[in-house]
Amino acid sequence: DTNNLHGYAPICLGIEDFYVRRVYLRAQDCFNRPIASAPDSWIDVVDRYYDDTIKTLKRTTNTSKCLNLGSYNYLGFAASDEYCTPRAVESLKKFSPSTCSTRVDGGTTTLHVELEDCVAKFVGKPAAMVTGMGYVTNSAILPVLIRKGGLIISDSLNHNSIVNGARGSGAVVRVFEHNTPSHLEEVLREQIALGQPRTRRPWKKIIVVVEGIYSMEGELCKLPEIIQVCKKYRAYTYLDEAHSIGAVGKSGRGVCELLGVDTADIDIMMGTFSKSFGSCGGYIAASKEVIEYLKFSCPAHLYATAISPPAAQQIISSIRVILGEDGSSRGAQKLASIRENSNFFRSELQKMGFEVLGDFDSPVMPIMLYNPSKIPAFSRECLKRNVAVVIVAFPATPLLLARARICISASHTREDLLKALEVISEVGDLVGVKYLLAEPKKR
Ligand code: PMP
Repeated sequence: DTNNLHGYAPICLGIEDFYVRRVYLRAQDCFNRPIASAPDSWIDVVDRYYDDTIKTLKRTTNTSKCLNLGSYNYLGFAASDEYCTPRAVESLKKFSPSTCSTRVDGGTTTLHVELEDCVAKFVGKPAAMVTGMGYVTNSAILPVLIRKGGLIISDSLNHNSIVNGARGSGAVVRVFEHNTPSHLEEVLREQIALGQPRTRRPWKKIIVVVEGIYSMEGELCKLPEIIQVCKKYRAYTYLDEAHSIGAVGKSGRGVCELLGVDTADIDIMMGTFSKSFGSCGGYIAASKEVIEYLKFSCPAHLYATAISPPAAQQIISSIRVILGEDGSSRGAQKLASIRENSNFFRSELQKMGFEVLGDFDSPVMPIMLYNPSKIPAFSRECLKRNVAVVIVAFPATPLLLARARICISASHTREDLLKALEVISEVGDLVGVKYLLAEPKKR
């Protein structure tokens, strides 16, 4: 601020932010390289070499096989699948890669109708609407659900798509402490007493937005307590299940099933298909009236090209496998494996002395690195040993809360997990991030 002689501070801050972002993205040694295969449990990462003559890093067409601990391919459907892949290929031949039309202008195929019925039934709501991208589902639908005069109360660690949707809605946005129902109650009580800004009229509508599993924390939402608070203050609930639908619950139906919550208690259920279903796109599931309203008013439905038919077919097929409607028990096996794999990996990491965030049953497990200077070394040393990890750091997290975020898949074998643990343990010693091994200080 003191050097802001020409009023350029906001631009300078933007540039600074850009550099910090670049440093952290470059530190992701593996994932800033192109990947030359499906996001399966093993991936082909394009190699790079340092060209001494021109002092620069170069890419080659050679690839190395790496164990993939970074993808959201929770149930392993993103790789070739005996049931899903032939059907997706068939739909590609029948419907082509794109509808080349919006949903309302000739872009609704029989697959789209089937998909919406299938999703509504799967998540346990009367109706559903599907869009071409998960990010857009949040960012375009929140502004249609709530406008000026409304209040959004959002978990402090909600995903950027929610933050964008909330900001774009024109509603007042307040944030409550991450996953803390008592603070949600405090904010609700305070805001209800205050009413709308200036006019002090009561809020037209209040929506509380939470996630099923927090993508940077690996934590399960305290949904039963949050629902209780919302009911008490007559606020609507909006649940983003991007990381939980398909990944947790006895039949893969997400946190509601896992935590014993009745889906009737959630007003708006949102989720993405880019994780457990190995596809892309997003959905909103709610009452018939809400979905009908959204289909008439949401720009992502009215003005965006419909989800690609093969992507839609992939989702329908993967849901059938999850539900055992393909005539096999593969779905049940996948659900059992992701749970077993996640719980095994989490407890082994903890035993090794790593500080791991999140809850048991969650396939997302951030290993705390804290110090930003440890990021490049951790990522590079893992990659050297053919293990690809995703690093999450500023601005996605506070500066001193950098972490390596492991995502476990049902398609990881026990052998894969043992190799990953061996490598992470070795790198953890090398970089010095086994923080829980330190002896407690004697007074
Ligand atoms: N919501 C959450 C919680 C997410 O983590 C993400 C992306 N990982 C999205 C929405 C956006 O989904 P998509 O990547 O499928 O567009």
